[in-house]
Amino acid sequence: MIRESASRSPELVTTRFDAILQSLGAAPNLDLALLGIVKDVRDLFQVDICLLYLSDPVRLDAQRLMVWDGLGDLAAPPAFADTLANLVAERSEPVNLCDSKALPAQLDANCHVYLGVPIMHQGALLGTLIVQQTAQSRFSESEQAALATLAAQIAGGIQLAKARSSINASASGNVPTGPLFEGVIGAPGIATGTGHVIYARSELAQIPNRDVADIESEIAVFQAAVSRVAGELDRVAEEQGGGLTAEDRTLFRVYAMIARSNELVTSTLAGIRSGNWAPGALRDSIQEHARYFEAMEDPYLRERADDIRDIGRALLNELQTLEPAEERYPARTILVGEDLSPLDLAAVKGVRLVAVISGHGSRLSHLAILARSMGIPAVMGLAGTLPLNSLHGKSLIVDGYKGRLCIEPDVSLKRQYRSLAARERRLSKTLRHLRDQTAQTLDGFRIPLYTNAGLLSDLNPSLAAGSEGIGLYRTEYPFMVRDSFPTEEEQYTLYRKVLQTFHPRPVTLRTLDIGGDKPLSYFPVQETNPFLGWRGIRISLDHPEMFLTQIRAMLRASSGLNNLSLLLPMISRVEDLDEALILIQRARQQLEQEGLSITQPRLGAMIEVPSAVYQAEALARRVDFLSVGTNDLIQYLLAVDRNNERVARWFDALHPAVIQALLRIIRAGKQSSTPVSVCGEAAGDPAVVLLLIGMGVSSLSLSAGDLPRIKWAIHSLSRRQARALLRQVLQLEQASAIRSLLTQALVDAGLDTLMHPGNLD
Ligand code: PEP
Ligand code: MG
Repeated sequence: MIRESASRSPELVTTRFDAILQSLGAAPNLDLALLGIVKDVRDLFQVDICLLYLSDPVRLDAQRLMVWDGLGDLAAPPAFADTLANLVAERSEPVNLCDSKALPAQLDANCHVYLGVPIMHQGALLGTLIVQQTAQSRFSESEQAALATLAAQIAGGIQLAKARSSINASASGNVPTGPLFEGVIGAPGIATGTGHVIYARSELAQIPNRDVADIESEIAVFQAAVSRVAGELDRVAEEQGGGLTAEDRTLFRVYAMIARSNELVTSTLAGIRSGNWAPGALRDSIQEHARYFEAMEDPYLRERADDIRDIGRALLNELQTLEPAEERYPARTILVGEDLSPLDLAAVKGVRLVAVISGHGSRLSHLAILARSMGIPAVMGLAGTLPLNSLHGKSLIVDGYKGRLCIEPDVSLKRQYRSLAARERRLSKTLRHLRDQTAQTLDGFRIPLYTNAGLLSDLNPSLAAGSEGIGLYRTEYPFMVRDSFPTEEEQYTLYRKVLQTFHPRPVTLRTLDIGGDKPLSYFPVQETNPFLGWRGIRISLDHPEMFLTQIRAMLRASSGLNNLSLLLPMISRVEDLDEALILIQRARQQLEQEGLSITQPRLGAMIEVPSAVYQAEALARRVDFLSVGTNDLIQYLLAVDRNNERVARWFDALHPAVIQALLRIIRAGKQSSTPVSVCGEAAGDPAVVLLLIGMGVSSLSLSAGDLPRIKWAIHSLSRRQARALLRQVLQLEQASAIRSLLTQALVDAGLDTLMHPGNLD
């Protein structure tokens, strides 16, 4: 029986799992997706009946039977199934039962055995999968394990199919308001606008739907692509002397036939005629045909599904060469993509970019950091929750306070969000009077507030927010937007502009920190673990020629202005710092020999690796200042990938270990009278800032968007209070308790709106 086939041939089972997942991903709607699952499960496990329940979206503790297969003459599913589904939901674990009181060894041929497994998605119960069989023995442990494994794998696909269905229902006006999805908070704020999907051009599944205005010319474009791709395949098949075997030639001929086959062309044309652009129509047609082959019994024919996808990609490629090179963005663009990069934001020109939706990442990803400094909301980590390619052209509300996205909202929801946005604007306006005031506590402790920047366009928000200087200028972006390393002259021009713009205020230029999540296309570094790999100062020291070029450009740029501080990233040992300092001296000597008069800049080391926390005193003795990069420091200290949305809730600047580390660094700075600044995103969190004031931090550098509210918080409390709170916090062992204590203190100081932003009326 079934279960043996599952346990005897694990490879077959895994291959079939892959096929089930593929068809689930390509299913056009939720009903067909679920029907496909129960049929496939029944077939694979060779059971009499398979049923699938989904949690009720309204009554979360209840489940609804959505679909079943194999009931035969039975008019309704066995009543026992509901009870079993509830039992599985209650326990959140597999339940393996029979309907006989007999001992397993005594079951007769008419006994019914049941197995139910939960379908869990992102920690919540999505539904239950149940199989039933008439048998003499219960389901074995390996069958149970196989079904549970499958349930875990289909959970994501079901969630996406569910989301797609609700998005389609709202687009067709079948429901009063569109669905709401929860992601990870990226950057605060509220925005309404139109989704514009940026997709990986080689990924068929990521292609969004787009409306076409001129259907006839879209048809002509598609037909031209077909004839070019098929013609090229014919040419390869007929080419003499290319080293192809007769079999290869046959294969290319078959590919050409498939490319111009009636089925593929006709269904794509039908998609275009219904108003979709050619790539979107092609995606549907390819997925439908691939699914057809995947369902075949014969393994040879099943594999043809891959050929169909290859041909789809070739056609897609061809279509893309015919597309206009420039993206056309809507007036209020909400940029959407699986894995957007800061460069995608920079590419939006000529229209207002009002928000960002990213499939992956968290609030510490550079994309979110950039959004925050531009003052626009961002919601991250939605790839597992909804198919992002459905958002193209949709009316959206992005709630960056709660990490929510609402699709095709109705008027009443729009009104609520508009009034919330107006309230936030009023608050920002009332904070404007602080713009030209310095930040100091009620008892007169002054803390310079600088901003973080990285794109030239970043300087305006910093100036508008009343920044006292640039505490961290990330120099990677100018390297990322080019296709080779920028020359010394190009770098000089850029750095000079930054230093001049802020003169006489100080500007801290950080040396190149590529690697990790900041790759350069023209300098590929292949590593299995890039965050623990060749990044930051390590690359600079291995390439002194690059490092010296950058330092020379920075020192020259400061000539006559003398407002430069130079910051070294990713210092993990004293040797690296010493070596970098020697190179900086060498660059200075070179320039002086060339006749330039160079003032020594202030030199700083970043503390963003745990080893540097323990050696903070030794590092502090060698430089003029320390700057704590909490984004990386927390990532390394707590072993939480800063870009991974799945572990975002483990990333916490108020973790007692982080607080101990910050305290240690600030004390180490005091030992040698070396100022300690904090430049990671934690400097924009009022609760953390309160502790940092208690510890005696010298300055903060934060996103321009966070600056007014942090200044407000600093103005509302005394240093004495901050010290007392720090003493209390040091007694606590859990971040949640620390957060509650500090939040209450801030609320008591009159900062309720700061601590609870974005609550709808
Ligand atoms: C940090 O790690 O905290 C930091 C400021 O640097 P980046 O975010 O660029 O890695
Ligand atoms: Mg860092």
